[in-house]
Amino acid sequence: MSNDITRSGSCLCGGVQFQVTGEPLRVGLCHCKDCRKTSGSAYQAFAVWPSQAFESTGITNSYGGRSFCPTCGSRLPTVGEEEVEVMIGGLDVAPTEGLEPSYELWIGRREHWLHSLPEARQFEHDRVVDDSAADDGEPEAGRGPHRKSA
Ligand SMILES: [Zn+2]
Ligand SMILES: [Zn+2]
Repeated sequence: MSNDITRSGSCLCGGVQFQVTGEPLRVGLCHCKDCRKTSGSAYQAFAVWPSQAFESTGITNSYGGRSFCPTCGSRLPTVGEEEVEVMIGGLDVAPTEGLEPSYELWIGRREHWLHSLPEARQFEHDRVVDDSAADDGEPEAGRGPHRKSA
């Protein structure tokens, strides 16, 4: 697996560096209150990798399970026991390659001037995985940030 793609990321001041190896489990957009508040933007775009695909250096702080750089305030990946959620904007290369969202969350909060992504599954609230169509076979339990939004 040494030829797996590696993507690097960092905070604005460079005090925190991270990288993810291999392809993400899924890529999504979220319009929920928490994502709006924590990003200060209209929505958040993120990609999820298995936690073991993630490495980072530098000092981080966190609030409500969401990590950020204590120096510059940049949002940083949220590391769970099984999965890590990486904000696409934290990656160093833009535009990203191969990270196209396949679903959108909390679409009732989407700004009226944004349109739904044509190919993306749309969810009223958090992502619902029906057993029959489990796309990636990954367990949903223990997932962090998108559980408790309102
Ligand atoms: Zn920083
Ligand atoms: Zn959200």
